[in-house]
Amino acid sequence: LDAIRTLADIPAAQAQKRGGAVAVKFGARETSFAELDAQSNRVANALIASAVVPGDRVSVLSKNHDAWYPLFFGTARSRACLAPINCRLAAGEIAFILGDAAPKLLFVGEDFFETALAAIAELETPPRLTALYGAHPAFESFDAWLGDAPAAPPADEPQLGDDVLQLYTSGTTGRPKGVVLANRNYRRFLEMASEVDGFAYDEDDTVMIVMPLFHVAGTNVSFSGLAQGGRLVLVKDFAAPDAIRMLTEERVAHAFLAPAMIQMMLQQAEAPDGDYSQLRSIAYGASPIAEDVLRRARATFGCDFVQFYGMTESAGGGAYLSPAAHDLPGKLTSCGKPWPQTEMAILNGEGRPLGDGEIGEIAIRGDIVMKEYWNRPEATCETVIDGWLHTGDVGYRDADGFYFVHDRIKDMIVSGGENVYPAEVESAIMGCPGVADVAVIGVPDDKWGEAVKALIVPVKGAEPDPDAVIAWARERIAAYKAPKSVDFLDALPRNPSGKVLRRDLRAPYWEGRERAVG
Ligand code: ATP
Ligand code: MG
Repeated sequence: LDAIRTLADIPAAQAQKRGGAVAVKFGARETSFAELDAQSNRVANALIASAVVPGDRVSVLSKNHDAWYPLFFGTARSRACLAPINCRLAAGEIAFILGDAAPKLLFVGEDFFETALAAIAELETPPRLTALYGAHPAFESFDAWLGDAPAAPPADEPQLGDDVLQLYTSGTTGRPKGVVLANRNYRRFLEMASEVDGFAYDEDDTVMIVMPLFHVAGTNVSFSGLAQGGRLVLVKDFAAPDAIRMLTEERVAHAFLAPAMIQMMLQQAEAPDGDYSQLRSIAYGASPIAEDVLRRARATFGCDFVQFYGMTESAGGGAYLSPAAHDLPGKLTSCGKPWPQTEMAILNGEGRPLGDGEIGEIAIRGDIVMKEYWNRPEATCETVIDGWLHTGDVGYRDADGFYFVHDRIKDMIVSGGENVYPAEVESAIMGCPGVADVAVIGVPDDKWGEAVKALIVPVKGAEPDPDAVIAWARERIAAYKAPKSVDFLDALPRNPSGKVLRRDLRAPYWEGRERAVG
């Protein structure tokens, strides 16, 4: 890690040590560290030849593909900043991000040529278009763009203050915000990752990447994996049966999975014929996990589990629950303790720190905290105050220093004057027979202000009785938290990082009315 000052150094540092070792496997194709290093330098030189200067933005719109890695490192090496776009967004939403980031170049994967063209049509100054892979008449091919760019690194060295990634938040609560992360943020992330179980790997460990590369979890697991000499197995589209098979076939040692992915994989793996003995750790996070899902996953996969709590604005870092802490009494539902050299606090409405056991807003401070929200100075000032990143999540710290996330402030339900956190209610309902998936929202109610409603996806063929679901919840949580009503759905709307879009679920019930919270 000493040879790695900025993200751009990762391929070269490993290439020097063990150039022939496999860095990335995608489908049947393997790329060595030496190849990744040369390819990244060629991308950097081609960017410079395309008039990209330090501080310029470059964007990518694509599913996971191994061409992303030279793009990450090459952009960093050219001192430009990569602003990836969530490829599941609609053309109008993509146009919004392109307008915001104003990239000089846009690299597009073959599944999104038409979407990109529709998005570009809405822009005043469209970016230069290159096909990341695949071919389309309106797009320059990647090889043509690369031309004869040399494989030696450009002379101008990246600086710690350079903006290196502009990751857009998941847009769970509103429009995605461009989070500007500098080399300095990632330098600290990489230092800490090598000390934290679940991010600390051995050379040649296989790390499965299923999180989207436009999300902080996808980038971080990739960067920490490569920085430590791991071998990444990259998955284009997540599908539970394929992921299960891959664990065994590729002898995966580590994976980062969203709770929703674990839930889907369990439905495949619980009739266990898989051999997971090579699996050493599963890291999970990005959204709350139901206790029942976590217990079943630990029993099924039998490896270490590590929880991460963080967000795009903190370069993905924050708190983590170590494997050992999963076995401490009362800590399984905790998101753990702060990362090394990271502070956390619970703040009241005025931003003053609260004591153990008191409920307030979670805040994070340290070198991982973003530089700013791009083009949003006011939002930056409201979110980062005296270095403290205000997360928008509610929670508390217990007397042992463990943090517990209740939920997002914007999703909190106020019912009869009591605060109800949907994640806790969902966790209680998740083990109920006949329930495959559940989301809890507040709906308008004349008596209670808001009433708790559970939206349930039944197990295939099952028809759970709403009263039985409510009774199940009342046996496990306080009566005021239990749902007052239950509706059924075929599937829950989720974004690519596995988060339930409660905003969309609430909308039909709130038509024409304002919610007091959020
Ligand atoms: P937006 O900010 O645009 O609404 P987002 O907050 O979903 O989107 P991310 O930065 O991807 O975008 O997600 C961070 C959020 O995810 C946290 O603020 C928190 O609400 C949730 N989260 C992350 N890790 C955990 C965890 N371990 N347990 C519970 N919630 C988590
Ligand atoms: Mg957020």
